[in-house]
Amino acid sequence: MPLDRFGRNINYLRISVIDHCNFRCVYCMPLDTSQYVPSSQLLTPVEIERVVRAAAGVGFEKIRLTGGEPTLRSDLLEIVDRIARVDGIRDVSMTTNGVLLPRLAKPLADAGLNRVNLHIDSLDPQRFAKVMRFGTLSEAWAGLEAAECAGLTPIKINAVVVRDYNEQDVVELARLTIDKPWTIRFIELMPLGNNECARLAKDNFVSSADSMRRIEEALGTLAPVDNPNEADESVNYRLADAEGIVGFISPVSEPYCGTCNRMRLTADGRFHLCLLNDDELDVRAALRGDGGDAEVREILIKAVQAKPTGHRLHEGISTAQRSMFQIGG
Ligand code: SAM
Ligand code: SF4
Repeated sequence: MPLDRFGRNINYLRISVIDHCNFRCVYCMPLDTSQYVPSSQLLTPVEIERVVRAAAGVGFEKIRLTGGEPTLRSDLLEIVDRIARVDGIRDVSMTTNGVLLPRLAKPLADAGLNRVNLHIDSLDPQRFAKVMRFGTLSEAWAGLEAAECAGLTPIKINAVVVRDYNEQDVVELARLTIDKPWTIRFIELMPLGNNECARLAKDNFVSSADSMRRIEEALGTLAPVDNPNEADESVNYRLADAEGIVGFISPVSEPYCGTCNRMRLTADGRFHLCLLNDDELDVRAALRGDGGDAEVREILIKAVQAKPTGHRLHEGISTAQRSMFQIGG
């Protein structure tokens, strides 16, 4: 098991496969983004598989694909197929805005993807467009239905709560769980990068406590639900007689660094050691050099050992070099 120097069992690798996106969510990606990782510098499906083999070899079990928008990667099916076949990997999931899932959900499930987290910030078409800018609610909803139909379940929905954009929408999103066996998770805004998205994340912050109060005022008590997975960053609740779960992810107001079990791999082949920190270790050079798989494994072990704990958001310090779309959440 890959224990880090703080005794945390790091067994979950989040792989960003691309930094392009077909949305421009206000807190994630500046409207005028034009600099992307050139395709020659993106890890190839074979290189991603080699990293996953190294990870499985030291005890990693869970893989999540993210981006940017992972479904924009034209060789995504090959990536999933290669990862899903690696011995020791027992869960392959993906975080997506969902708009391309009507075409991709079934082939992704056939390639070995187990489940998806869909990102839907509002059930109001106007406010959805205000927060996520390039997408539409009906497209995202069609993606959710396609995912459910293809068996990419249990369905989880991520919603980032932003003051003056969608803070009232937590009620209608939470209401979905009454009839649907879905998990709706509300995420506190994090400021990443040095741009207008980071400034908005600071200025328009809404705490999970505020979102919870708003939901309880409208829909009644949220009763705590035991979470068997202690590394799950979401604190979960259930409305009375509800089918689904309402969760709160609160990295700012209630940091969960002590139970963090993740390593992150960027689309350009760097282990990013903590979401809210700039430290990285390059693995692409090793993948493309003569060191072979032993060197890839060594770099991963070094990355796990160097993983920091405890973010410094309260001191105004966060990841400066990369924005969220360049890491993958
Ligand atoms: N495009 C996909 C999506 O939106 O789900 C995957 C990549 S996106 C960077 C991964 C997750 O990061 C999203 O689900 C969104 O909820 C979250 N996210 C993006 N920017 C954020 C921010 N500034 N603070 C908190 N969460 C953020
Ligand atoms: Fe794109 Fe996801 Fe970032 Fe929104 S949160 S801009 S969908 S990468």
